[in-house]
Amino acid sequence: MDTFYAHLDANRDRFLDELKRYCAQPSVAAQNLGMTEMAELVKERLEARGFSVRLIPTAGHPVVYGELGEGPRTLLIYDHYDVQPPEPLELWDSPPFTPTIRDGKLFARGAADNKGDQLCRMQAIEAWLATQGPLPLKIKWVIEGEEEIGSPNLEAFAHEHAEMLRADGCLWEFGGKNEHEQFTLTLGVKGIAYFELRLKEMEVDAHSAYAAFLPNAPWRLLWALSSLRAPDGRITLDDYWPHVAPPSAEDLALVDVLPFDAEKIKANFGVREWLFGMDDRTANRALRFAPTLTICGLEAGYTGAGTKTVLPKEARAKLDFRLVPNLTPDLVYDLLRRHLDRRGFDDIEIVRLSAEHAARTSPSAEIVQAALRAARTVYGHEPVLDPTSGGSGPMYSLCDRLSIPAVSAGVGYPGSRAHAPNEHIRLDDYWQCQRFIGHLIREFARQDF
Ligand SMILES: [Zn+2]
Repeated sequence: MDTFYAHLDANRDRFLDELKRYCAQPSVAAQNLGMTEMAELVKERLEARGFSVRLIPTAGHPVVYGELGEGPRTLLIYDHYDVQPPEPLELWDSPPFTPTIRDGKLFARGAADNKGDQLCRMQAIEAWLATQGPLPLKIKWVIEGEEEIGSPNLEAFAHEHAEMLRADGCLWEFGGKNEHEQFTLTLGVKGIAYFELRLKEMEVDAHSAYAAFLPNAPWRLLWALSSLRAPDGRITLDDYWPHVAPPSAEDLALVDVLPFDAEKIKANFGVREWLFGMDDRTANRALRFAPTLTICGLEAGYTGAGTKTVLPKEARAKLDFRLVPNLTPDLVYDLLRRHLDRRGFDDIEIVRLSAEHAARTSPSAEIVQAALRAARTVYGHEPVLDPTSGGSGPMYSLCDRLSIPAVSAGVGYPGSRAHAPNEHIRLDDYWQCQRFIGHLIREFARQDF
């Protein structure tokens, strides 16, 4: 792979310029900002490497789909060209869409999540083609435009194009090094079901003197919410726990060796102990394997300065359930509806805002084993396997449902500040990950394992 490395090294300036140009294009799906321009730019950059590319329409922003190469194996790659909103702008040290290099790091919205991964992968493929000949496998590349708004149209896309997407393994969008500088391969994501509960009791707000005989929407919503979780923190949604799949012994063994810097995390959030007084090992396991129910927001009545004696006509709450395997968004919706109805809260409307299934790949899958071999070669240490991220993503729709094992690996590190101001990547990680992609292609194309 010496010539492959040489091509990467010789083209660093051009690659960096290309990455800056890529990150300079705003593409905020939530604000419908720059999305068409970004889709065109992705298409153009893929075509520059010889991919045949199509913009495939969805009910929202199009999916950029590219294919290149031939071989006995097919590698699906998943990325997204949208980014999170950059606000609050005043907390950025350089403007979010003016990519800036400081201290060997590239700062820009999307640098880590996930434009850096895309170009790292494209540039590695370019270096392969320039030095190793044609690709030894087929690559199918899905770059969607709605990941940061919950991928509302990816499931329909995957369903409609199931035949086209057929593959032996998938390289997922995110990843990088952990707190101990160990390269990490992630094999799954938690699911999510996000709801808004709406309760409207009256047509207009009232003087609070009328509370003597008029209903109070915020109180009723609070009573409903408090039936969902006990004061000790346990989720008390009816019929919920029989659907929670416990982690396997193999899962637990993988997680117990992952670094978990308890003191640093506590200091970060300004807390003294974990929820329910759990120990560090339990907290580390819970991040991956415990389902959660979070009140993300509550809205009712007057919250401005001073007093306003008002009886609010309505109240709303935003709830997210993070889901482990076997708990599906539809199931949680049904359980929640029945739970509320049984207690007389059938007047509370449940609006489904977003939904994603949990996803998991076995460590023994070929794509995982190929990634392990590639990572050992490039990073010089035994990479870490994380059975699942505590976050969510559309991995189930694109991979599990189509029986494609997936592994996630990328250019980030824990300080990358994805979704936050001053998002960045370390350039050394970026150059190293280009090499990893080359080795991954080589290892996954091999038939002798
Ligand atoms: Zn993201």
